[in-house]
Amino acid sequence: MRLAGKTALITGGNGGIGLATARLFVAEGAKVTITGRNRDTLREAARELGPNALAVVADATDIAATEAAIKQAVDKFGKLDVLFANAGIPGNTPLGGTTLAGFEQVLRTNLTAVFFTVQAALPYLNDGASIILNGSVISVLGNPGYSAYAASKAGVRAMARVMASELSPRGIRVNVVAPGAARTAIWKGAAPTAEAFTALEQRIARSTPLGRIADADQIAKTVLFLASDDAAHVQSAEIFVDGGATGSPAGAPIYRG
Ligand code: NDP
Repeated sequence: MRLAGKTALITGGNGGIGLATARLFVAEGAKVTITGRNRDTLREAARELGPNALAVVADATDIAATEAAIKQAVDKFGKLDVLFANAGIPGNTPLGGTTLAGFEQVLRTNLTAVFFTVQAALPYLNDGASIILNGSVISVLGNPGYSAYAASKAGVRAMARVMASELSPRGIRVNVVAPGAARTAIWKGAAPTAEAFTALEQRIARSTPLGRIADADQIAKTVLFLASDDAAHVQSAEIFVDGGATGSPAGAPIYRG
């Protein structure tokens, strides 16, 4: 077991990539606290994950709620070895059609809250702990309509490097997992009809060298690697888990003869 005896906290652990990671962490021997806003899905996730998991309602943009959740986690399972700052929202912010509130909501959730989650956890992290931040391929792809989201995730990758510098003296590692399109609820609302959604999925798959959309599990396995001692010398890295979408786009099915 790769996380035997370790304790972890995952923000946004009640769905998608966060829940897939929580399942894997528990299976690998960790005690895991998950947070999120939705009471029902948190309760459901806690039931599924069993006695080695704790679910706490906490909006990541509410610093006091985040601090309280971290304290609850530490009271139940002890100081943290792993922090996965994963909670995030999409957000359509095209030029010419975006409000200040809409733009700031994306930055507050995906960037500011990540900083304050790490800051709140700091006194409760063991030396040698692993912090993983959830980035995105959108930080480098220039997809239209994503200014705020892209900026937030580019901020995450920049911030991770600063944090790694600041925390290296304690042996704390800070790394980014940067997923490409993964099948989760975050895509809900990305297309107006079921047919349009299928067409969108096909378009994404055809523009991905490996020809498919990821499952949340595939992202979770990279998070597990970064969390575990297998990544003991990996510091301030960003691992793209995107089927080649950023590194080798010319290999995508749409470019094949
Ligand atoms: P989901 O929508 O399935 O999950 C998002 C999670 O974040 C939910 O558990 C949600 O819970 C939680 N969350 C959202 N806002 C808040 C908040 N303010 N406070 C606490 N929890 C919050 O999406 P994914 O699993 O796909 O997304 C997880 C991360 O992965 C995000 O950071 C996303 O940007 C990133 N990502 C996803 C990709 C994909 O294609 N799926 C691609 C690249 C990056 P609740 O609603 O209960 O608060």
